[in-house]
Amino acid sequence: MSDNATDTTLVWFREDLRVHDNEALVDAVEAGEEILPVYSFDPREFDTGMFDLPKTGPYRTRFVAESVADLRESLRERGGDLLVRRGEPEEIVPALAAEYDVETVFYHTFPATEEQAVESAVTDALDAEGVESRSRWGKTLYHVEDLPTSVHGIDDTFTPWRKSVERNATIRDQLSTPDTISTPDADPGEIPSPADLGVEPQETDDRGVLSFEGGEHAGTERVARYLFEEDRLREYKQTRNGLLGSGYSSKLSAWLTHGCLSPRYVFDEVKRYESERVSNESTYWLLFELMWRDFNTFQLLKYGDDFFASGGIQGKAVDWRDDREDFERWAQGETGVPFVDANMRELNETGYMSNRGRQNVASFLADWLEIDWRMGAAYFEAKLVDYDVCSNWGNWAYQAGVGNDSRNRYFNVVKQAKRYDSDGEYVRHWVPELADLGERIHEPWTLRDDAQATLDGGPDEGYPRPMIDMDAAHERLRNR
Ligand SMILES: Cc1cc2nc3c(=O)[nH]c(=O)nc-3n(C[C@H](O)[C@H](O)[C@H](O)COP(=O)(O)OP(=O)(O)OC[C@H]3O[C@@H](n4cnc5c(N)ncnc54)[C@H](O)[C@@H]3O)c2cc1C
Repeated sequence: MSDNATDTTLVWFREDLRVHDNEALVDAVEAGEEILPVYSFDPREFDTGMFDLPKTGPYRTRFVAESVADLRESLRERGGDLLVRRGEPEEIVPALAAEYDVETVFYHTFPATEEQAVESAVTDALDAEGVESRSRWGKTLYHVEDLPTSVHGIDDTFTPWRKSVERNATIRDQLSTPDTISTPDADPGEIPSPADLGVEPQETDDRGVLSFEGGEHAGTERVARYLFEEDRLREYKQTRNGLLGSGYSSKLSAWLTHGCLSPRYVFDEVKRYESERVSNESTYWLLFELMWRDFNTFQLLKYGDDFFASGGIQGKAVDWRDDREDFERWAQGETGVPFVDANMRELNETGYMSNRGRQNVASFLADWLEIDWRMGAAYFEAKLVDYDVCSNWGNWAYQAGVGNDSRNRYFNVVKQAKRYDSDGEYVRHWVPELADLGERIHEPWTLRDDAQATLDGGPDEGYPRPMIDMDAAHERLRNR
């Protein structure tokens, strides 16, 4: 706290659920004698969104609630507290600011349209009350103000953008975590259960890769385990296309998305690993993937609403199919294509899917079934524990051929299955009704007629036939 700090400041927490490297918190502590940290569960986040799909499903709801509880614990350890409320932030934040005579509100700004609309509503309401608001940037590895060009000038292709940033920009140091925080006497408020938020809770299937416990403590523990205890980073580039087990990739996405981990913290830990253990292509590759995360974020800042348009940022005219029944078969993992179904079932039962899986199921929906890619993106939005508006919509658009640098390339889902799940172990894990199939596990429709007979039932009686003629669809994709 600075010597002349006398005011009360408010920190409005959002997807920055951490005390480490948190500029809004650091600046609020610097400017205020007393700090009012606030988190509000916004009912709109638990409503339905595009295509009438829920916006937030059970896995992410649980993760956020755990992260909020963990943040409260960290603030209490420092002498403060976290006020938790339910309601629209534009109502809650100005009301608390008025009640506690707050001079300034600090918060992190986020790039997506809905988040920005909420931000504007909050700052307008504060302004009307004569309360100052100060926004900070904390989502990316590279600070938005340190990019070599303005956001509107950044390249739409990843590789030249990455190279120019690596050459011309530097990553800022992490900010130090405040030691003490003083919060005025206030009703801390209860952290709502999923049911309170209208979300039916769902246990994570124990076949999942990880239990994904929310919060900064669990996030930093995951970094320590993956890098130092299990020493997996040295082989990340070779293992990152894996499908089973916790170790094939970092699994940091959920903590990064909700701001339980600062990307600069992850960067510093990778650098420490490089100096203490090994520095190789794999250690660089994790940072390379964080650059993809940055790129998607800045692209959304650049394009705004176009990011969510059917023709994407390219404004392509594509006649997507809007077939709800076919979409449901995809969503429920009942397409009859084992690799696609295994991945969708993993998503439905755990809230997570590997990057390789995400690419394949997205291609199956957009390329093979020709269904509006935005239905898939909206479905992922509800289901993913690590849903990030920038990475999700950016990757979906890319896969659908309407995003950045898209070259209209489809995934041959059967070939991919044979390559990345060569022994069928992953499919057997999630589609147990195929457990007895041998080497044809990835294309059961090619089995002899008599064997096929046992697989002919509908979704309830056995494993379904493929929902499309795979050969004809492949022929069309090859020729497009
Ligand atoms: C259709 C589709 C939808 C996706 N939706 C999301 C999403 O909602 N949220 C999300 O965080 N990622 C998303 N991704 C990117 C990627 O699949 C996940 O970040 C990754 O699988 C998470 O696992 P991990 O943490 O073990 O990743 P690792 O392989 O260990 O990568 C480390 C980190 O780099 C970042 N990263 C890795 N790959 C990408 C990528 N392609 N784009 C952007 N950032 C990346 C993530 O923050 C990740 O935690 C999506 C990819 C596809 C193809």
